[in-house]
Amino acid sequence: MSYEDVREADPAVADALVGERHRQRETLAMIASENHVSEAVLEAQSSELTNKYAEGYPGERYYGGCEFADEVEELAIDRAKELWGADHVNVQPHSGSSANMAVYFATLEPGDKILSLDLTHGGHLSHGHPANFAGQLYDVEQYEVDADTGRLDYDSLQDIAEEFEPDMIVSGFSAYPREVEWERVQAAADAVDAYHLADIAHITGLVAAGVHSSPVGVADFVTGSTHKTIRAGRGGIIMCDEEYADDIDNAVFPGAQGGPLMHNIAGKAVGFKEALQPEFEDYADQVVRNAEVLGETLQDHGLSLVSEGTDTHLVLVDLRDSHPDVSGGDAEDALEEVGIVLNGNTVPDETRSPFDPSGIRAGTPALTTRGFDEDAMETVGDCIARVVDNIGDVEVYADVASTVEDLCREHPLYE
Ligand SMILES: *Cc1c(COP(=O)(O)O)cnc(C)c1O
Repeated sequence: MSYEDVREADPAVADALVGERHRQRETLAMIASENHVSEAVLEAQSSELTNKYAEGYPGERYYGGCEFADEVEELAIDRAKELWGADHVNVQPHSGSSANMAVYFATLEPGDKILSLDLTHGGHLSHGHPANFAGQLYDVEQYEVDADTGRLDYDSLQDIAEEFEPDMIVSGFSAYPREVEWERVQAAADAVDAYHLADIAHITGLVAAGVHSSPVGVADFVTGSTHKTIRAGRGGIIMCDEEYADDIDNAVFPGAQGGPLMHNIAGKAVGFKEALQPEFEDYADQVVRNAEVLGETLQDHGLSLVSEGTDTHLVLVDLRDSHPDVSGGDAEDALEEVGIVLNGNTVPDETRSPFDPSGIRAGTPALTTRGFDEDAMETVGDCIARVVDNIGDVEVYADVASTVEDLCREHPLYE
């Protein structure tokens, strides 16, 4: 995309858009929730469908002129059903948080009880944090990962469930490096007759490709983001059995949203088609292998990983053992200076604050999209460790920055 028309209409925004393109080309996107969509998804998202009102669902819209909107939404739904093997799919949520909101609206009354993972242990705001609508509307109790192993403790989850008697148990996380055993969460939900929402926001792509086990057919509801490991542009998705189809559709529209973002749904349709190609499995497989190599490289440099490794697309580094004087925020800032963009993150049993936590979270989905293989990931791991070992050393920063530049040049993006 040239942005020629934007430049003519609005040079300030054109400058920012071009600046962002260069930023993405010239830095390493290692925020675990980020990825780079294809040019085809970008084009679909900027199509004339942004003009179209299509409240309702395909074949039952409140407005005329929806024949192409219907076509696009049906394609997105059919492809999602094929990708995840779901009975019923709603592709209208504007984001993963909106998808969760719709599931709560479909199943709970204000004041009902939600049991979810603590945010500082890897949960998500929309699972019931006090600053989020979910924490304000519902009565929330939280479970934690085992502080020693960094892994979910399913027995303790079941004990808390039996004590608290929730109406809904939420699984699926933002900063959990290990495979989730959905059946064990389901067993806890069954024991107390609660709904189970599995929020696979981060791992939608890994689940679609079969490199992470699937909660579809296990949990009552599965929600996801469409812009993380599945490269289908920004948005959300809900999957469920046919028995909940009407409740979910009504909770999305008119319950929680107005008109769907049809241009984004077009992006989802295109991204889902791409994910149905055999190469997508290779991609997802490489994402996980790259995360493993990244983790091993950091460990070789003496850094500690929560759960001592990863099964997924991300690693969570606990800096307290190796670098007690370096906070996650310090590391994030230093790494950004050399062109490695990731985030400071809380770790289980956090002893600092959520605003300046003890860990960093790093993901491989975006770099893998750019073609990074295990060797390149090892170089990236070396770079991260060197910066964390030498906070404030401008000579080291300059050296690492030039390695990052080389890596970016060898793995071009949007050219
Ligand atoms: C990213 C994420 C979401 C959705 O976030 P949005 O920004 O609203 O799309 C939901 N749940 C989890 C666990 C996430 O990591």
